[in-house]
Amino acid sequence: MGVPGVHTCANSKCGQEFRRLADGKLYAFTVDDPQNWGLPAHLKQKVVWLCSACAESMYVRLDRRRHVVQLVQRRTEAHVHTGGFRMKWSNVDSASISGIGYDKSRRVLAIEFLPHSKAYLYFDVPPEEHQALLNSQSKVEYLDQVFKPKGYRYQGPLKGRWVA
Ligand SMILES: [Zn+2]
Repeated sequence: MGVPGVHTCANSKCGQEFRRLADGKLYAFTVDDPQNWGLPAHLKQKVVWLCSACAESMYVRLDRRRHVVQLVQRRTEAHVHTGGFRMKWSNVDSASISGIGYDKSRRVLAIEFLPHSKAYLYFDVPPEEHQALLNSQSKVEYLDQVFKPKGYRYQGPLKGRWVA
């Protein structure tokens, strides 16, 4: 079964041929300017496929200004030392957040925002809140509607790349 515009894995170093929808992961992005994506004018959807092997270690997003598909490496959940905190970082499949970290013993939550990788630290955040944020359908909505109104003390934006 074919999908228009999808022939191979979006990872050019892989190049595996697209055969079945059941394999790997298909991403469909709505685009306002299909011609800039090499699509016919009526097709307002950019579809990208990652084979199952690549989908395990990366995901895709669109750079809508430069009209390119970007591959984003998934971070493995690992403990890393950042800014003196022992953060456990979680992958976030979001257009505006690149990572969420949590130091359980010190109850500090870190959020790194795209596109400039600016991080904010939030203090005295209970583990249930961290879990609720991770489980939320839309991280941005949860932050705006539930998290921020609680008024956690915070620090940021912190310069430089925060998530290891
Ligand atoms: Zn692949």
